[in-house]
Amino acid sequence: MSARDLGRGPVVAIIGGGFSGAATAFHLARLLPAGAADIVVVEPREGLGYGLAYSTADPSHRINVPASRMTLISGQDSHFADWLEQTGAILDDAEAIAANGALYPQRRVFGRYVESYLQPFLFGKVIRHVRSAIASVELSGQGYILILADGRTLAADALVIAATHPPPALPSALRSVAAAARLVANPYDLGGLQAIGRDDQVLVVGTGLTSADIIATLDRNGHRSRIVALSRHGYRSRSHAVLPGDPIGDFISLPSRSATVMLRRIRATILDAKRRG
Ligand SMILES: Cc1cc2nc3c(=O)[nH]c(=O)nc-3n(C[C@H](O)[C@H](O)[C@H](O)COP(=O)(O)OP(=O)(O)OC[C@H]3O[C@@H](n4cnc5c(N)ncnc54)[C@H](O)[C@@H]3O)c2cc1C
Repeated sequence: MSARDLGRGPVVAIIGGGFSGAATAFHLARLLPAGAADIVVVEPREGLGYGLAYSTADPSHRINVPASRMTLISGQDSHFADWLEQTGAILDDAEAIAANGALYPQRRVFGRYVESYLQPFLFGKVIRHVRSAIASVELSGQGYILILADGRTLAADALVIAATHPPPALPSALRSVAAAARLVANPYDLGGLQAIGRDDQVLVVGTGLTSADIIATLDRNGHRSRIVALSRHGYRSRSHAVLPGDPIGDFISLPSRSATVMLRRIRATILDAKRRG
């Protein structure tokens, strides 16, 4: 029997408490009348709002989008940047300020910002954080039964799936070396990276933003030897333009029905903008 059958507000269960799950819970809590719903976030991590991207403990891992373009509240672009100023969160972090004045705080700081907006709702029990992972979900009448990894169950009337990034896994081409003592399969295993000696030669598979994180960690650990990064395309992640350009393209008035269609439209828009100079 669901909470609604018992005369209480519906239970909205959110699977995953990274940025997406935390933001969903926050906006439901602030927009719905008090007591209108029981908002439950199921997330194994200690805090809500951190997820994979913003839970890294390494201070050399920074946001890769300027603070002025990251916000919990759409339409309030400077919300995070204002929070940084109000809380003094980067006062002792001179490296957070880029040459053009844009702010790039440590990634954990963004998690703290999101968490700080959820905290009043957590204290008021408007949002509940169930610290576990979902093992499976079953349909039950009009609702759902969530089976947690620790064996508990949770009945829900509505379900939001915000699990997003799968945990880092070894690509199939590298499975033959899975047991190798010097392989670091999880790029966010800081202990594994710490074990790399400063004179060890390192092969990084991939040249995207995660490889930039790894190289920053190695550098902070005093690594001084050769690092080779391997990529199918040979591209490295590019830095942001010194001067921010005006946004181009309208992807909202005619919504794309799949990610592939959206990607094609973005590419076509960029090509068109390039042609126009
Ligand atoms: C390393 C990295 C750095 C990034 N940096 C930036 C940046 O600086 N700026 C930017 O705009 N974007 C950045 N991004 C993009 C980022 O993906 C989004 O900004 C955003 O954080 C995605 O949040 P999410 O909640 O959707 O996903 P996630 O962060 O993946 O959170 C999903 C959550 O779901 C939980 N979960 C998974 N499975 C289960 C389960 N079975 N049961 C319960 N919970 C589960 C996980 O524990 C996790 O906390 C970065 C991405 C990565 C990977």
